[in-house]
Amino acid sequence: MSDKYNIDSHKLIYHPVEVSKWYEAEGDWEKQKKIYPIYVEITPIGSCNHRCTFCSVDYIGYKSIKQDEEVLKKTIREMAKLGVKSIMFAGEGEPTLYKPLPEILNVCKEVGIDTSLTTNAVVMDAESIDNYLKNCSWIKVSINAGDRETYAAVHQTKAADFDRVVENLTLAAKIKKEKGYSCTVGSQMLLLPENVDSALSLAKTMRDAGVDYLVIKPYTQSLYGTSRVYEGLTYKSMMYLESELKKLETSEFSVIFRANTMKKLEEEQQPYNKCYSTPYFWSYIMADGSVYGCSAYLGNEKFAYGNINQQSFKEIWESQKRQEGVAFVENELDISMCRKNCRMDEVNRYLWKLKNPNPHVNFI
Ligand code: SF4
Repeated sequence: MSDKYNIDSHKLIYHPVEVSKWYEAEGDWEKQKKIYPIYVEITPIGSCNHRCTFCSVDYIGYKSIKQDEEVLKKTIREMAKLGVKSIMFAGEGEPTLYKPLPEILNVCKEVGIDTSLTTNAVVMDAESIDNYLKNCSWIKVSINAGDRETYAAVHQTKAADFDRVVENLTLAAKIKKEKGYSCTVGSQMLLLPENVDSALSLAKTMRDAGVDYLVIKPYTQSLYGTSRVYEGLTYKSMMYLESELKKLETSEFSVIFRANTMKKLEEEQQPYNKCYSTPYFWSYIMADGSVYGCSAYLGNEKFAYGNINQQSFKEIWESQKRQEGVAFVENELDISMCRKNCRMDEVNRYLWKLKNPNPHVNFI
C-alpha cells in the first residue's frame, strides 16, 4: 500500500542540517539551547464537542480555555524566525472550535510555516473549509467508524454528526478540486474491537467522498489517560483487514494500514533506551499557553519549560527549565515508562541508530 507521506515511519531524514547540529551539540548546553523544534503541535482551544472512548487526553478535562489570539500570532511569527518549520493544530480540544483559527493559519502561511489540522470536522462550513484548504499542507479528519451508530458510540455523540462529517469531507474534496488546492485531505480511524467490522464500509465512504487517503492506526494507552478500556489491545486478529482494504484503493485514494506500528505493539523491548528527540526536534503548546517538550507528558513539570503568555518562545526554549529538561531526559527518564509507539518512536529509532552505529557503517 502506498504511504507516500511516510505516515507509518518518520521524516527526520529530510532534515540533515538540524540533525547534524544536534549530533555535534552533545553535552554542550550553549549549542543545545539553539536547537529549535522543527515541528510544533499547538492546541488552540481546550474544549471539545466529542468525547471519544479512546481519547488520550481525557485527563486534561476539555477545559474551556483558549489561546490569546495576539499572543499566538506573535509567538508563531517568532517561531518562524527561530527555525520552526511546521505546526499541527490539534491537541487537547477540537481546533476548529477556536474562532480565530483561519486568521492564525493565514499568519502561518505569511511567515512560511507549514500547517496541518487534525479535526473531527463536525463544525465547518464552506468558508472555513476553503481557508483550511488554502493554507494547510494537510487536513486529517478523525472518523472512527463506517456507520452512524458505531460512530455515535465511539465518538459519544449523535449519529447525525457522522453525516455532517461525510458531507464536510465531500465538500472539502470538491472545493479542493475546483480551486486546485494542493492540501491533502485525509481521514483516520483508530482501530478498535467496536469499529473493526465497519472499516471496509468507512474506506468505501471515504473513497466515494473524494478523500485522498484513509489511515487505519492502532490504539496505544496514554500514560495519564483516565480511560483504560483498551489497555493492552493488540492487533494480530485484525491484520486480515490490510489486504481487504487494499482492494478498495484507486489511483486517487489510498489506505494506509499502519501494520508496522501495530506489529511494534508486540515487541518485548524497544530497540533504543534513550529518547533523543525530546526536547529538541519537537514541542507542544497547550491551550493555556504552556510549552512542553513531549505531548505524552502534559501536566508533568519535568517537561514544562514556560508559558507563551509570560515569555517569548526564545526565552522559554533557552531557559534553565529547558536545560534541566535536557538533563532529565538524558540522565533520568526511564523510557520503558513512556507511551508505547509514542509520536517520536520512529524518530527515536533513527537517532538511536545514528548514535549507536554498527561496526560496518563505513561500507556505504
Ligand atoms: S514519550 Fe516518546 S518522545 Fe516523549 S519522552 Fe518518551 S520516548 Fe521521548
